[in-house]
Amino acid sequence: MKQFRNNVIRAGLGALCITGAHYLLRPIFSGVGAVYMLHHVRPRRDAEFQPNRHLEVAPEFLRAMLSHLRARGIDIITMDEVHRRLIERNFSRRFACFTLDDGYRDNRDFALPVMREFDAPLNVYVVSDFAEGTGRLWWIALEMVIAKASAIEARLGDAAIRLDASTPAAKQTAFDRLHDWLRGLPCEHDIHREIAALCARYGVDEAAVCHDLCMSWDELKPFADDPLVTIGAHTITHCNLAKHSAGIAGHEMAIGRARIENALQRPVIHLAYPYGDRFAAGAREFALARAAGFKTAVTTRPGMIFPESADHLTALPRVSLNGNYQDARILPVLTSGAATAMWNGFRRIDAA
Ligand SMILES: [Zn+2]
Repeated sequence: MKQFRNNVIRAGLGALCITGAHYLLRPIFSGVGAVYMLHHVRPRRDAEFQPNRHLEVAPEFLRAMLSHLRARGIDIITMDEVHRRLIERNFSRRFACFTLDDGYRDNRDFALPVMREFDAPLNVYVVSDFAEGTGRLWWIALEMVIAKASAIEARLGDAAIRLDASTPAAKQTAFDRLHDWLRGLPCEHDIHREIAALCARYGVDEAAVCHDLCMSWDELKPFADDPLVTIGAHTITHCNLAKHSAGIAGHEMAIGRARIENALQRPVIHLAYPYGDRFAAGAREFALARAAGFKTAVTTRPGMIFPESADHLTALPRVSLNGNYQDARILPVLTSGAATAMWNGFRRIDAA
């Protein structure tokens, strides 16, 4: 199903490229700017089974995107500047803002050098438990379990199941099934319990994942000192906020931020909601982020920034630079707003 959806999206992007429809749509849907969303930036890997590949782009693709924006004369600005332009209604120049979620070490090693070539700033949203070394990156642990095993035995609720994982295609199917099941569980604790059981059974060191991939506080200190870097908050545990009480959700936002401020000795005024889709961040979370004093908060809902976004500063949409579509031909489609308009049903504001 996911493959089918990916193919439809690719076909849609392809059609927009070939027909040039994005040139016609640009004046209507491109808004005043865009906030781009990335996770990992690192060289392509060869492995056929890469179920989290949508979360990573190669440095060359990031460079192509930055060149494209510069060639169009689009300002590449910080989230502070996005906030300022929105509240001052200063839209004389188009803008782009680059945001990277979770605090991966590759952001320092591969993203920052490319951004530096263009003197372009980046915002990195840090999960405090990830920096602490105690975070649970369950989607990566799941990938490691399935990569290693030729069959997966698991209990989905009351049913004991056995999933084939002997080929890359079978692994992808098994990953999709388990991933969807895990995301549907009542809360994070359930996901962590099930992942811990799978890791124990298949010999995956789940605790090492966080250390291997995420910057520690000691690494974040010099990184945050770079003049191009802004650090934002991304909660304590990277939980699905909508699945928790308002008390816990507010605590995740406020304490996640306080820990970063304490460790890095700087104010943190921007937030990204973990997962960020409408099942993880809605009207209640937007209000909680506002009440917690965040100046902006970004979702993963697709969309460009419009002047009206100024009234919804804690519900900002983003444009994903998705690792499954790293083709320079889609860059004008992404900046035109045509792709996001197609995906969000041609809405300018999606903040309910
Ligand atoms: Zn995240």
